[in-house]
Amino acid sequence: MYGENQLKLKVIKMYNWDDPINEALNKPEEVKAPPIKEDKAVDLSQIEPTTQTDVQEGYTGMENLEKGAGRIQVDDKAIINCRADLNQLVPFKYDWAWQKYLDGSANHWMPEEVPMHDDIKLWQDPKGLTEDERKIVEVNLGFFSTADSLVANNLVLAVYKHITNPECRQYLLRQAFEEAIHTHAYTYCVQSLGLDESKIFNMYREIPAVATKAEWALPFTQSLGDPNFRTGTPENNQRLLRDLIAFYVVFEGIFFYVGFTQILSMGRRNKLTGVAQQFQYILRDESMHMNFGIDVINQIKLENPELWSEQFQSEMIDLVKTGVELETRYAYDTMPKPILGMNANLFEEYIKFIANRRFVQIGLPEQYPGAKNPFEWMSEIMDLKKEKNFFETRVTEYKVGGQLKF
Ligand code: FE
Repeated sequence: MYGENQLKLKVIKMYNWDDPINEALNKPEEVKAPPIKEDKAVDLSQIEPTTQTDVQEGYTGMENLEKGAGRIQVDDKAIINCRADLNQLVPFKYDWAWQKYLDGSANHWMPEEVPMHDDIKLWQDPKGLTEDERKIVEVNLGFFSTADSLVANNLVLAVYKHITNPECRQYLLRQAFEEAIHTHAYTYCVQSLGLDESKIFNMYREIPAVATKAEWALPFTQSLGDPNFRTGTPENNQRLLRDLIAFYVVFEGIFFYVGFTQILSMGRRNKLTGVAQQFQYILRDESMHMNFGIDVINQIKLENPELWSEQFQSEMIDLVKTGVELETRYAYDTMPKPILGMNANLFEEYIKFIANRRFVQIGLPEQYPGAKNPFEWMSEIMDLKKEKNFFETRVTEYKVGGQLKF
């Protein structure tokens, strides 16, 4: 119950949402926002400019406005621990981040655009697919349907706050939406084929091959998601870098590749071409996510060379190697028998080949000498130069409603 005075106050403060512009322009003096009390204001002493000897966490973008502050110069910007206003996108410092945002946006797609009729017919035909093929589809939908939620949560709840650069954040926002589209796509596949949703979405805690990878990744998000976590010390900066390597290099850069290859291989054999096409679009997005992550990792290394100590490098080598072991186990668990012209041994070689590329991409030595790529057709899809062709091709074909050829 409101007393008379309280009720009066409440009525005065009500805002006319039917005419918000007029309301704002004619805002009476008495409903002006009260000044922020001293104890609620940001403690400016905590956000003094960084000096060499006084390294502290960066801005988040939620600081009070600094009226009359000097205009931002490119050199003020940094990927982590930056104290230039984060709410001004320009001037650009990292053109590669902005370019990836533009490329990702140009490649926009939605799951419903992919025809699924043939897939539904094939799945419903008792003789359409072998039991092993059905199992591979289900387990991969099980892994991927929750995997992109883990990635999205890592971006939004752990990484975003600590990346103190607006053009990188712009890409992170695009990436976060793409993760939502991917989860949408997997759900759309599950629903189109009439699979047991509960069974598929619970696989990440019921099927060991799927659970192990999710379980490995979660602590990295949790480590940064701690509300008391702040970057600004070498140890905490390394924690952020470790999370980025775990998610961009291992999770999106290694953990996705057995499943992608298995499903795309079905598409090449003219089976479940709709599901395969969804996966192909996702692979293109993921390849961009990974390349963005690698650029961010390398830029942080460049700006903070002290983080890339020998000990940290050796830790990161072990981290990626653990990822290789887990993905290899996933290959054996999902493919106990040869299928679709592939077998788990080939995948073991393939994962090592991919891991070698990842090591080199972040400036570490290859760990699996001589590993070859048994799936050349996959590298054609992923090759960065061809990736550009893909975007051109896809946009053209998309406009005429065509489908990609494998
Ligand atoms: Fe992703």
